[in-house]
Amino acid sequence: MKRIVVVGAGLAGLRAAEALRRAGFDGAITLLGAEQIGPYDRPALSKQVLTGEKDPADTVYRSDAHFADLRVDLRLGQPATALDLTSRKVGTSDGDLPFDGLIMATGATARLPAVEGKSSPIHRLRTLEDAQALRNALPEHRHVVIIGAGFIGSEIASSARMLGLEVTVLEAAAAPLARVAGRQMGEICAALHREHGTRLICGTRVASIEGGGRVRLADGRIVEGDLVVAGIGAVPETGWLADSGLTVADGLVCDPFLNAGHPAVYAAGDVVRWPNPLFGTSMRTEQWTNAVEQARRAAANLLAGPRGRKPYAGVNYFWSDQYGVRIQSAGIAAADEVRIVGGSPAEFRFLAYYRKGDRLVGAFAMDQPVPLIRSKLLIEARTSWDEALSRVKAGEILA
Ligand code: FAD
Repeated sequence: MKRIVVVGAGLAGLRAAEALRRAGFDGAITLLGAEQIGPYDRPALSKQVLTGEKDPADTVYRSDAHFADLRVDLRLGQPATALDLTSRKVGTSDGDLPFDGLIMATGATARLPAVEGKSSPIHRLRTLEDAQALRNALPEHRHVVIIGAGFIGSEIASSARMLGLEVTVLEAAAAPLARVAGRQMGEICAALHREHGTRLICGTRVASIEGGGRVRLADGRIVEGDLVVAGIGAVPETGWLADSGLTVADGLVCDPFLNAGHPAVYAAGDVVRWPNPLFGTSMRTEQWTNAVEQARRAAANLLAGPRGRKPYAGVNYFWSDQYGVRIQSAGIAAADEVRIVGGSPAEFRFLAYYRKGDRLVGAFAMDQPVPLIRSKLLIEARTSWDEALSRVKAGEILA
């Protein structure tokens, strides 16, 4: 293999390129990015960048010198537009790029709500540009309405409260984060929002957004906001693969080795849908740690070839910072039982476990970073429920 092209100069693309070099690949590496800026830290966007604690320029992960040292040809502002697997070429606006090996890491794009009405612009938050626009807008407004109480919507709410704005969060589900953490944990997250003065309306849908950020709900209620932000999830960036012959179904469909259906083609990060052997289920996640770990595995598998490859079993780990509380989760929330095993939800400092059958399949924590990481290891080791509870009882998990 002489030429490897990595498409997507985000976190997974960066880490894949670095992993290829670390593994001793000596050929040409091209890292192709759609944005005008090199890989940067997205988690900071909804937190320190919005609150003004971090300068946007400080989110950039690596210097130009780093890419030169690594002999990675970083091409920015140059999106891949097509993939021809027969001739092994990635199409770009600057011509075709031939490859012997390909890693796709194009991430996802934030969704905008399909609502009626002529309105002032609806903000969203995926890119540094989005963050700068929102950061500039927030101080000029009084009342921000956030559509969606997932991790990103909730973090925007927290940052906006910190800046002194009135905040209303609208959520279609019965509680924030209910889809990823279940109803019980979602209710605790709802209490955290309310404790900090955020108005939360769950089980609601937006009917229209009127000029000036006034939001009309499906039941006729009006929320008198003056700035609207959508935090309603993201769509995997697979448009450029339309004629490639690869399978796309809410993500680029890969096998357990992160292979996308051609011997020389792997993928990593938010764009990937793969059967996760740890939980026996098909998943696509939008998480920092998953992007890093998948990038490493995709690079290793591409270089190893069919006989040396290993499957990728991800533990589905995520953290979020809201109102000064560190929220973390690992594993899955599709469970038969959720149990608080330590701490106090009322104080927003606790650890909860999820049981599926006789196995520990998930953990959720507020301000319990060490216990959560210990629990993550138990989930990765496929620990039984009884064993996990006895480890908690023996004092091995809680700080
Ligand atoms: P991205 O980081 O999206 O990178 C993909 C890159 O590919 C982009 O730069 C994109 O422009 C580029 N691209 C797309 N299409 C093309 C194309 N056709 N050709 C070339 N390039 C292309 N995770 C956590 O675990 N904890 C957090 O607290 C957390 N906070 C977050 C806050 C925000 C606001 C956001 C947006 C995400 C957050 N995440 C968090 C998620 C985490 O940042 C992502 O999981 C991670 O960035 C995924 O990396 P990626 O490389 O797969 O995708």
